[in-house]
Amino acid sequence: MEQKKQNPTAEDETQIISRRIQRISLHITPIPRPLHDHDNNLGLLPCATREKLEVETEKLSVYLRGKYRDMQEKIYEYFNARPELQTPVEISKDEHRELCWRQMYGLIRETGIRPLKYVAEEPAKYFAITEAVGAVDISLGIKLGVQYSLWGGSVMNLGTKKHKDKYSEKIDNLEYPGCFAMTELHHGSNVQGIQTVATFDPITDEFTINTPNDGAIKWWIGNAAVHGKFASVFAKLMLPTHDAKGVSDMGVHAFIVPLRDFKTHQALPGIEIHDCGHKVGLNGVDNGALRFTSVRIPRDNLLNRFGDVSRDGKYTSSLPTINKRFAATLGELVGGRVGLAYSSVGVLKIASTIAIRYSLLRQQFGPPKQPEISILDYQSQQHKLMPMLASTYAFHFATVNLVKIYSQMKMTHDEQLVGEVHALSAGIKAYVTSYTAKSLSVCREACGGHGYAAVNRFGTLRNDHDIFQTFEGDNTVLLQQVAADLLKQYKEKFQGGTLSVTWNYLRESMNTYLSQPNPVTSRWEGVEHLRDPKFQLDAFRYRTSRLLQSAAVRLRKHSKTLGGFGAWNRCLNHLLTLAESHIESVILEKFIEAVEKCPDASSRAALKLVCDLYALHRIWNDIGTYRNVDYVAPNKAKAIHKLTDHLSFQVRNIAKELVDAFDLPDHVTRAPIAMQSEAYAQYTQHVGF
Ligand SMILES: Cc1cc2nc3c(=O)[nH]c(=O)nc-3n(C[C@H](O)[C@H](O)[C@H](O)COP(=O)(O)OP(=O)(O)OC[C@H]3O[C@@H](n4cnc5c(N)ncnc54)[C@H](O)[C@@H]3O)c2cc1C
Repeated sequence: MEQKKQNPTAEDETQIISRRIQRISLHITPIPRPLHDHDNNLGLLPCATREKLEVETEKLSVYLRGKYRDMQEKIYEYFNARPELQTPVEISKDEHRELCWRQMYGLIRETGIRPLKYVAEEPAKYFAITEAVGAVDISLGIKLGVQYSLWGGSVMNLGTKKHKDKYSEKIDNLEYPGCFAMTELHHGSNVQGIQTVATFDPITDEFTINTPNDGAIKWWIGNAAVHGKFASVFAKLMLPTHDAKGVSDMGVHAFIVPLRDFKTHQALPGIEIHDCGHKVGLNGVDNGALRFTSVRIPRDNLLNRFGDVSRDGKYTSSLPTINKRFAATLGELVGGRVGLAYSSVGVLKIASTIAIRYSLLRQQFGPPKQPEISILDYQSQQHKLMPMLASTYAFHFATVNLVKIYSQMKMTHDEQLVGEVHALSAGIKAYVTSYTAKSLSVCREACGGHGYAAVNRFGTLRNDHDIFQTFEGDNTVLLQQVAADLLKQYKEKFQGGTLSVTWNYLRESMNTYLSQPNPVTSRWEGVEHLRDPKFQLDAFRYRTSRLLQSAAVRLRKHSKTLGGFGAWNRCLNHLLTLAESHIESVILEKFIEAVEKCPDASSRAALKLVCDLYALHRIWNDIGTYRNVDYVAPNKAKAIHKLTDHLSFQVRNIAKELVDAFDLPDHVTRAPIAMQSEAYAQYTQHVGF
């Protein structure tokens, strides 16, 4: 025996290996048993199973994925059929950049998908495409976003007919890969502070683009380091004054600047391009830095929708001030923000699918002398993952609604809608991307050590998604725009003005706030009352109204001594909480509407359960706020807590169906730990068994 252990034969080795595989497989592949076997589980499980809903996954999925399901399937099938275009777990920066280009090029050239056409004509379809490609590889989603939403979008939205005629088809078919060059080394969030200049030369009828100092080097520009042939460059438009001795600054405008020679791919004269290098994530995207030295472009390259320069150097615009032109210019670019929010929900769907499927299969511990139980039967695991699943559903409907009103805005150019989309896209982008970023860590942790294996995707998802919180507007800065808008609406309300649709609720709930909370309803604690959408929505809106009222009072008080800027800074955290609270109110409202509109009864019941969990979990999280003002009496607070727990158990029971309804293909949720038991064999093979 001793001998055998020291010098095993080939046969012994095979047996040892097979035993080890079996043991590891058992470790990670539980012996199948009914998930809801009362005898084998902790006491909490029977409580959960008693009320298990029947969910028809296919019907729920159809309701969720709506009319662009086919388009997304087409994309998933395209990549499924081309394993060579799927991003491997280990890949160098340079290989990843090339692969990402081939992925995008292949998709566009071989499937006939024309994203820029949809950007202009059917934005909802475009966002569905970005969600699907982002699920394949987030780098690909961002690279596509740079090409179509940023570079293409700036030409389509800031340019006029001559630009669309000349560029749109070639941008769409990738003949003209391009960049969006706004950020500079010294100015990111503060776009109005950028220093690149575009000076009109009336003699040659050209603009000269210059980087006046190192701080003005365009930085982080996607597609610039390797693939971009053009850039829409944001610069201050300078016009010579009448006496030709000086120049006047007309504010930030965008210009089309060719970057590289079409034949040689070398940078054109006056253009210096550097690589921003290896990043924390998104290494499939080639971010670069650009310096311009007396780069001449024709006058026609000014994207002149909001301001134009005539042959004799006269400036014309339908908008009277630099600030108004700037707002209009940035307002046209909100599509990128909408897309990012939408894609972030896509990432959250993938992460929660992997974590929940794994948690259903993985077993640890159990009652004495009984089989181990699924880790999703632990209350702590449910608390980590079930409210997250509920939030994923909530965000799904909120972003679908955002896309809907964004599309309406693009069609109608209705002024009120423009303001609404601007604030809502800022708020939802900030709220959703911050939530997803935090959840990715929670999901990794929920999957224990196996969550840390790169093959199980959390590492790349987390690293690639992280920057969603910063680009297309830093989240902290965006939330301030929401707060500023709320305060504007607040002021208008008291001046008798009309509120825009999304803010309309403030009219009613502000009045409620100004009176004391109702001492009777604050004591109601029946399940029916707590699950009543009216109670939930009132509670969310009450909190927003209260925060708004108190922020306005504080700002007024502090501005007397600190001035406007100082007062704002003194109240900043308060304002951020206000913005988040408002966004949560909007998200809940849209979720409730989506539940009510769902045509299939079983799906509706499942969604109602999930929606209640979302609402009550949020209320419970902020219970201190509600208790402080007696909006919720102590016993009601306890009842909310108890019901939230109970709903978590119930959602756990249909968790599999709820994630299956996202309908993500295997190669997207390809984390082996999330697959069915036979796929675990791939995992063991992956590590060399
Ligand atoms: C991978 C990647 C890709 C990118 N792609 C592009 C691209 O293609 N084109 C492009 O033009 N740009 C691009 N960017 C730039 C991106 O848009 C900027 O990084 C972003 O706008 C933030 O600017 P900043 O980095 O200068 O941060 P800053 O504005 O300096 O912010 C730094 C910190 O200060 C805080 N802060 C700033 N202002 C305030 C305030 N008023 N109140 C409170 N806190 C504040 C922020 O919250 C943040 O935490 C990219 C960036 C990255 C990393």
